[in-house]
Amino acid sequence: MFSKILIANRGEIALRIIRACREMGIKTVAVYSTADRNSLHAQIADEAVCIGSAATKDSYINTKAIIAACEITGAKAIHPGFGFLSENSGFVRLCDKCHIKWIGPSAAAMDAMGDKANAKKTMIEADVPVVPGSDGIITSIDQAKRIAAEIGYPVMVKASAGGGGRGIRNVENEGELEEKIIAAKQEAKQFFGNDDVYLEKFIINPRHIEIQLLADEYGNVVYLGERDCSCQRRNQKLLEESPSVVMTEELRKKMGEAAVRAAKACGYTNAGTVEFLVDKDKNFYFMEMNARIQVEHPVTEMVTGIDLIKEQIKIADGQKLGFCQEDICLVGHAIECRINAEDPAMGFRPCPGKIASIHMPGGFGVRIDTAVYQGYEIPPYYDSMIAKVIVKGSDRTEAIQKMKVALSEFLIEGITTNIDFQLNLLRDPEFEKGDFDIGFLNRKDFTKK
Ligand code: ADP
Ligand code: ADP
Ligand code: MG
Repeated sequence: MFSKILIANRGEIALRIIRACREMGIKTVAVYSTADRNSLHAQIADEAVCIGSAATKDSYINTKAIIAACEITGAKAIHPGFGFLSENSGFVRLCDKCHIKWIGPSAAAMDAMGDKANAKKTMIEADVPVVPGSDGIITSIDQAKRIAAEIGYPVMVKASAGGGGRGIRNVENEGELEEKIIAAKQEAKQFFGNDDVYLEKFIINPRHIEIQLLADEYGNVVYLGERDCSCQRRNQKLLEESPSVVMTEELRKKMGEAAVRAAKACGYTNAGTVEFLVDKDKNFYFMEMNARIQVEHPVTEMVTGIDLIKEQIKIADGQKLGFCQEDICLVGHAIECRINAEDPAMGFRPCPGKIASIHMPGGFGVRIDTAVYQGYEIPPYYDSMIAKVIVKGSDRTEAIQKMKVALSEFLIEGITTNIDFQLNLLRDPEFEKGDFDIGFLNRKDFTKK
């Protein structure tokens, strides 16, 4: 087993990974930017190395500084968490060259899936249903018009290198196609340094249901049930749960097996997630594969009892999966709420600042993944997610109740958060019935106090 792992990330996910390493008796190296000097991940790790200034490009995606930090500390493996370098195959190749083990899929598997237009082609070959759309990227407006007319409006323009809901635009009719393509390209260029876009039919009111996979380096792939991430605001997830209310044993098996085929088609290893859209008639369509651990992984951990981060480390260490598909059993119902430092009343504007005081919930079946503490100053440079509250109940009703109690106990002074927004969502009759789709949060106003 690795003696020492470097965690190339910050915030709650860095802490989450450090904790798993410590439980496994593995030494940890944190990296931090000058803006993160006082962050918990840098304090709790066995060693911490400053890798640059606040801007992400100078620190958390500064590949040279991160490799140098491995060399200085003797770390033999890197866990990337999510965001930052987690889906950067160029960096994976650099790690390979430096004999540093990447805790994630190979660069080749990442490339096969990272380019979303390309991934769709691979999926079609693997007999995984995909959303109808352009055959690869769009090369001209005329071509886009032709394809959009063929598949029928509304359509979606999507960045081929996209992630985190960026570089996506809905197009209602041909009149707005050109401007939306330009806008998506601009955003894609800014966020991903790549402005390739493709077109896809806009599926009306589907649910976002994703399948968690674990794949070892010996061809064993298992699926660990689903997560329903339909509660999204502008394509960004806010609340996730497992199981999904629309899931049946039969559909779970069909989607799970399709996800396994998707992974096998590209020689995928380690943890990964296949995202699907599911329409009213329970047809499902491959959307993308996330070649990394995801923000919402705890809901799967709560219902399966499997520590996904530890499994990632064991797989990277060359161990075989210690269970097979028949061993996976889902118990109870888990919900995660993402707590963001943002002001819903001001268009969800990020609200960095100093946490004057904080009281976090707890109790049976309540889990908090966070790296903030009293007196901590949230820097303005990074993602606004500051905590995840995860609960597990014996069924969905109990889980919702538990989450309401937990969130109403959660007090944060000094900054504005979306806690009240989440509470309003939890109290909504349609949400309680499980009657929602990916457009739900955009149609309703949960910003009132
Ligand atoms: P998940 O599917 O795990 O919920 P998201 O798509 O919400 O992940 O993204 C997780 C985090 O990673 C977010 O903070 C998001 O901004 C960031 N992120 C996702 N994809 C990319 C990317 N390609 N480049 C940079 N950041 C990304
Ligand atoms: P990202 O890589 O940014 O997460 P995705 O391809 O996963 O991008 O899409 C983000 C979100 O946009 C999805 O979770 C879903 O809500 C919505 N979406 C994506 N594709 C479609 C589509 N074809 N029709 C309707 N909604 C879609
Ligand atoms: Mg996605």
